[in-house]
Amino acid sequence: MKRVEPSFGVSDFLGGARGAYEMIVMGYEHGNLDEIKPFCKWGTWQKSHPEIGCGLKRGFTFYFHQPGQRFKKTPTRINELLVSASPHAGIADTHWYRPDFDLYLYQAAAKLGVKVLDQTGITDLDPTGTGFEIKANGKNGRHEWSTRYLIDATGPRGFLFNHWNITETPFDNPIETQSIFTHFREVKRLEELQEFQETESPPYPVDDAAVHHLFPGGWIWVLRFNNGITSAGVSLTSDSSLELDLENPEGAWKKLMEQFPSIRDQFSKAVPCEPWSSLKSTSFQSSRITGTGWAMLPSATGFVDPLLSTGFPLTLLGIQRLGKAFSMGFDDSRFESEMNSYAETTKMELQAVARLIACLFRVMDRPEYFTALTHLYFGPAAYGESMKRLGKGTSVTSFLLADHPDYANRMRFICSEIMAMTREKRKLPRLDDPWLKTIRDCIGPINVGGFLNPEKKNWYPVEEQDLLDSASKLETDSKTLKEMLFRSGFFETKVKPAEF
Ligand SMILES: Cc1cc2nc3c(=O)[nH]c(=O)nc-3n(C[C@H](O)[C@H](O)[C@H](O)COP(=O)(O)OP(=O)(O)OC[C@H]3O[C@@H](n4cnc5c(N)ncnc54)[C@H](O)[C@@H]3O)c2cc1C
Repeated sequence: MKRVEPSFGVSDFLGGARGAYEMIVMGYEHGNLDEIKPFCKWGTWQKSHPEIGCGLKRGFTFYFHQPGQRFKKTPTRINELLVSASPHAGIADTHWYRPDFDLYLYQAAAKLGVKVLDQTGITDLDPTGTGFEIKANGKNGRHEWSTRYLIDATGPRGFLFNHWNITETPFDNPIETQSIFTHFREVKRLEELQEFQETESPPYPVDDAAVHHLFPGGWIWVLRFNNGITSAGVSLTSDSSLELDLENPEGAWKKLMEQFPSIRDQFSKAVPCEPWSSLKSTSFQSSRITGTGWAMLPSATGFVDPLLSTGFPLTLLGIQRLGKAFSMGFDDSRFESEMNSYAETTKMELQAVARLIACLFRVMDRPEYFTALTHLYFGPAAYGESMKRLGKGTSVTSFLLADHPDYANRMRFICSEIMAMTREKRKLPRLDDPWLKTIRDCIGPINVGGFLNPEKKNWYPVEEQDLLDSASKLETDSKTLKEMLFRSGFFETKVKPAEF
């Protein structure tokens, strides 16, 4: 493979996905990705790099709130949803504490030979026909270099978008949200608060997850790191009845807490330890993704909302596709079609996410609809990951099965129905047949996680039996599945069970 020039979005710190991109490209060159491999799981991360802050993400925790009322548990668990993503902490997912993690990626990329220009901004970008001439100014003076290919990794509404005055394309289902967010210290665990106490054992400790507090017109996220810091913020629809002035984040947060007594208790001692950030318009889609000699990362192409944490997966999938194209070499006859396919898939995946998230925002006051619709995300996520672990990743080629004709069409239909009903202010029907059946039918052929099983009452642990019962959907047998589970570290033991 030819040497690839460093990506150009040089800033005060390197974006995580951008760093990962460089390392994946280098990984292709060097034949390994040892520098980033331990970060795949909580267990290996803690063993190899305990000094790099991160959070344990065992799953997705959702609680539904009403303004002015304390959170209320019910025997049917209608106001909550716990979806486990791992059977134990050892192989669990993580929240990235980006000041530490980005710095590590930045240094590791430099060690691998990537030329890093810190605190440097591009001033000139001239196409040459076979690439670009670039001029930049920074703390270490003026730099000039030429590159054959340019990757824009500067995030939403980033460098190329501004430099070339690229326009925005609205999503089919518009989502107008704003957000404010910061890092806090002293955020309580929900387990400490009376109304979140469990009488039965939940699928995982509810705080060791991406916690979503939902309410009509918005939601609050709470992501705990292992260094005493918690990332939290709120995403609000522009027509939210809460009428918060997000121009004044501190005041808006205070007012928000006053409306939700249970969340207020969680934050009663919390102190921000970073300045507030705000986004006036969270969602964004660029009308261009690639061109001659350049491509935007998915994260520069668009963003919907932090809901369901789709940002990093989309970006990393894009990086993987770019790595594949680049490993062919720019002069390979397949390179162009590979890049066209990258652009198409990036757009298709972003739009599928946008479609679903727009619907979820519309039903934040209807927990039974919200929880049912989230399975349109959890279903394909569990299926895709299982197929990958079985070595059949090539048959799952897109996020949310966005390119799967049957699944994508059904999902599009469900989302457009929800959008129409809520837009026309029609009363949503009771969530029984035929509505629930429409969602069940959509995820049925790929449902390997027991989702929408009423006996689970909105608690979804990762269960071996659910997967074994789904062997035919994964086109395999239970012996192969058990071996895959053992290989993936599903069982905490390192001793292979006798029945294998
Ligand atoms: C509020 C919020 C919450 C989120 N929560 C989640 C979540 O829970 N899970 C998830 O998976 N994703 C989440 N995301 C999405 C996630 O942040 C992105 O997918 C991710 O940051 C993409 O990484 P990146 O490095 O490609 O881009 P970015 O993190 O956007 O980094 C881009 C970098 O480029 C720099 N830059 C910008 N312009 C220039 C320029 N002209 N010159 C030089 N440098 C420049 C910036 O300073 C920045 O350092 C969230 C996003 C937001 C806004």
